[in-house]
Amino acid sequence: MATYNFSAGPAVLPHEVLQQAREELLDWHGSGMSVMEMSHRGKEFMSIAAAAESDLRSLLAIPANYKVLFLQGGAHLQFAMIPLNLLRGKSSADYVNTGEWSKKAIAEAKKFSSVNIVASGADKNFINVPMFDTWQRDPNAAYLHYTSNETIGGVEFNWVPETGEIPLVADMSSNILSRQIDISKYGLIYAGAQKNIGPAGLCIVIVREDLIGHVSPGTPTMLDYKIHADNDSMYNTPPTYGIYVAGLVFQWLKRNGGLAQMEQINISKANLLYQAIDVSNGFYNCPVVKSDRSRMNVPFTLKDASLDGEFLKQADTHGLLQLKGHRSVGGMRASIYNAMPLEGVQTLVDFITHFAKQYG
Ligand SMILES: *Cc1c(COP(=O)(O)O)cnc(C)c1O
Repeated sequence: MATYNFSAGPAVLPHEVLQQAREELLDWHGSGMSVMEMSHRGKEFMSIAAAAESDLRSLLAIPANYKVLFLQGGAHLQFAMIPLNLLRGKSSADYVNTGEWSKKAIAEAKKFSSVNIVASGADKNFINVPMFDTWQRDPNAAYLHYTSNETIGGVEFNWVPETGEIPLVADMSSNILSRQIDISKYGLIYAGAQKNIGPAGLCIVIVREDLIGHVSPGTPTMLDYKIHADNDSMYNTPPTYGIYVAGLVFQWLKRNGGLAQMEQINISKANLLYQAIDVSNGFYNCPVVKSDRSRMNVPFTLKDASLDGEFLKQADTHGLLQLKGHRSVGGMRASIYNAMPLEGVQTLVDFITHFAKQYG
């Protein structure tokens, strides 16, 4: 039986990529070594890392004046590295609060900076993105930070804030590479790899060059973007296997039509699933307002929460895995990242429709 993995992260990888990794596991391209056994400074791994970077650059059309960094510490470490590097002598930064991940970024930034919350979805229980014309921005902010997709709440920006001269910073951990974006609108983008890129342990940072090199005094060396940029992300040992698998994913995306094609498939998948939820006559509910619903993470509840256990049990027997919602919100969550095929979403839709008929 085919299985489909709806985990929020670490998450599904393209089947073809896993097969290729398996084929290359013991002996990468006749080198006599596994990628896991290679020196990060040897010519083999240097070529793997260079290809990964150049494929990512072409997928996202990253302009030449941006650095691509392969780091560790996850998105969580970026919550601290961003203020440490981007304050540049200023005392305050703007943050948009759209849910759980925004809150974590804000809490960490407060250790290093004053934080101006320009807008918050809290008063509506985080079911929408606050409208741009209500944002109360600080004209002297060092940067503006937002979470382009709230992985837990299922709220996604379908537009890009226009911040003019103030560098725009985005946590794209759960929607990077899911759609086309204009990198030149951003000062910095970061994403933990384990949602929509590859295995856990790698965090990708794309940062405009002029924002590098202004780290706050006393910052540890490892938290300075400049150190990593000057050393091509090899100041210390990078997460080599994660970079390799991410590189295979980038090649898979390129073979399959790049981000334009991926975006169309992601729209189809999301429409299919939300449609099934919305026509269930309240058996299922997604609280997020329609215009701000995530294409990647679809949270939904059952009207009768006492059926949650039965739902999950039956889903499992249908090969539909890891649908349990985040512990903070309960219910269900289907994460439908790039690597989730349309058939997986169709199988889920068939299952939830049948379950609702059975128990509704
Ligand atoms: C998962 C996630 C994080 C945390 O990532 P780690 O790699 O565990 O630090 C941060 N932001 C968003 C939007 C996420 O989805």
